Amino acid sequence: MRLRLAPVEHKVCATADCGGSYEGERCLQCRSAFDPALGRKEPADRLILVDVDPAIYEQTYRCRCPVCKNLFDLREENVVVRAQCPQCLQPLFSRVQLQTMWRDTETLLQRARKLERARRQLAVCPRCAQPIAVESWCPLAPTVPHDPDVSGLPQNPIVVWVRTFHISESLEELQKEALDEAWRTASEETTSTSDEEPADAEEH
Ligand SMILES: [Zn+2]
Ligand SMILES: [Zn+2]
Ligand SMILES: [Zn+2]
Repeated sequence: MRLRLAPVEHKVCATADCGGSYEGERCLQCRSAFDPALGRKEPADRLILVDVDPAIYEQTYRCRCPVCKNLFDLREENVVVRAQCPQCLQPLFSRVQLQTMWRDTETLLQRARKLERARRQLAVCPRCAQPIAVESWCPLAPTVPHDPDVSGLPQNPIVVWVRTFHISESLEELQKEALDEAWRTASEETTSTSDEEPADAEEH
């Protein structure tokens, strides 16, 4: 077990006036769930415990949008969607074209970049002849202005550390949970006490 200063991925709450920063699925301050189309993910150097079992943090690759610096996870399904026409949902490229396009690629990011380049060369869909709209791969693009001429795909991925949640929550979260629990218990006791009194009164 050792301490290490490392870039840790955290989420920035998108709720107005909250500005909370958290690593789980919900903001610790306002409890709203993370929405990748609204909330940013950023790296920040933090001291973390590594070489522990189960791991508290794991290293992973993320794309960092060259426009807004948001971190995002590139998945196979994102590439599958971009290989289709958004109008008729037919493949934009044949199997052979894809094989040729991806011959020298090793990573999903490299395949995504090659696909994006080829896609931008097609003015219209070869099946339905509808124009193919270009848009950034960054998940914030629908809500934050992104230049459509920029793909949003970086040259190389960056390495960040992401909380695994294999073991208990952070001290900060434990304290918050404990407070919530204490609050709930206290309010239940108040409710049950006030319920009992009229019931007793009726029996007598
Ligand atoms: Zn919040
Ligand atoms: Zn972006
Ligand atoms: Zn089409």
